[in-house]
Amino acid sequence: MNNQGKGGQERRRAGQKKGGQGPGRGGGYAAGPEGICACPGCGYEQPHERGVPCPNINCPKCGKAMVRK
Ligand SMILES: [Zn+2]
Repeated sequence: MNNQGKGGQERRRAGQKKGGQGPGRGGGYAAGPEGICACPGCGYEQPHERGVPCPNINCPKCGKAMVRK
């Protein structure tokens, strides 16, 4: 008989699936380039400060409330 290999050839599944079923990681933005407050009046821009809403910041140039860009 043509018996290839002894017994069954058990193919072991290489664990290729990365068990990544956790809560979405990577949702927290560290202080980065994103987040810019811009002045609607004169166009002045500055990096958004964490914890400080843009509208709470007044443009240093014209004094208008900044907006999140
Ligand atoms: Zn301004």
